[in-house]
Amino acid sequence: MNLQKYVDLEALTKLRRDLHQHPELGFEEIRTSRIVADYLLELGLEVEEGIAETGVVATLRGEGRSVGLRADMDALALEETSSIPWVSRLPGKMHACGHDGHTTMLLGAATVLSNSPPKGTVHFIFQPAEEGRGGAKRMVEEGLFEKISCDTIFGLHNMPGLETNQIAIASGPQLASSDSWMVEFEGKSTHGAKPHLGSDCITASGHFLTTLQTIIGRLIDPLQPAVISACSIHGGDPKALNVIPDQVSIGGTARAYSIDVRNRIEEEIGHLAKGTAETMGVKMNYEYIRRIPPVVNHPDATKIAQKAAVSVCGKQALTSFPPSTAGDDFAFFSETIPGAYAWLGNGPIQDGALHHNSNYDFNDQALLTGISFWVEVANEALAS
Ligand SMILES: [Zn+2]
Ligand SMILES: [Zn+2]
Repeated sequence: MNLQKYVDLEALTKLRRDLHQHPELGFEEIRTSRIVADYLLELGLEVEEGIAETGVVATLRGEGRSVGLRADMDALALEETSSIPWVSRLPGKMHACGHDGHTTMLLGAATVLSNSPPKGTVHFIFQPAEEGRGGAKRMVEEGLFEKISCDTIFGLHNMPGLETNQIAIASGPQLASSDSWMVEFEGKSTHGAKPHLGSDCITASGHFLTTLQTIIGRLIDPLQPAVISACSIHGGDPKALNVIPDQVSIGGTARAYSIDVRNRIEEEIGHLAKGTAETMGVKMNYEYIRRIPPVVNHPDATKIAQKAAVSVCGKQALTSFPPSTAGDDFAFFSETIPGAYAWLGNGPIQDGALHHNSNYDFNDQALLTGISFWVEVANEALAS
């Protein structure tokens, strides 16, 4: 299909750079979602606004199967340091993950598909608050999939280091679950010179931390990737080096690619904390906060996306790609609906500009590849 017959790349590049200049954080995408909704209304699509505050869903209705295409819209709380002419105009906020590009590409795809409708229904899902604020979960909780039904669902994210005419899409785990945990040891404070008169939560914490990595090393299947990291520890006061404190709190993150490993990690951190507390004669509180499930590409949806990637990129398409220990809340969509998540090249990594770097920018050269992929995926998913 000659996409350039339907899309004005120059106008879309201008739009992408305008979104870049006006970054908005999760659930605050007021301007962005207004632009998105107006654009989709102009195309004559059914548009529903205000799902999860600033989310927008547009529908191109047809007979037969249905497919969901998802783009995220939010920016990050980060000061942009680059000198591009379209640098962020808002202090402390920037599009450092390329969601400005994701939004633009899905609008471009909506233009093409409206002008050349596929056999079936396409739902264009513009999600707020992907960056840790829970936009996808909130959309599902607010009944997204009662309002629209999707037989398959797809996500697309830019990837620095791949060429802009490259798309990578692999079956199985792509992104890890991303959870938080907190352990609090509660002892009885005492004079540092008289430890036998209290109960020592500092020493309990030491035992807990040195044993923590044995959960991965001894209890998790060695063929299953997993990470547990302690990232915060608080207890005592450096101005009171003769006091054993009442309390120490330790917190961190946990990553996994399967439900079983995720469950086991939650259970075993708790076991270890409880066992340590009992042995050391202190009390403990344990909290495991499930944030994002893993993104696991469904084999059927992957095949559809791979076919689309090959038809867009030819030999440049990659059908295997290493998973990342980062997370994406697209998982809340693909855990209920067969889905696949693809990577779109963002070109060479210049000046260290990776995701969430203050010098990062979405590469407009990738716009056409991304739009073409969306169009092919929709056609392929609805034809299958
Ligand atoms: Zn990000
Ligand atoms: Zn992102």
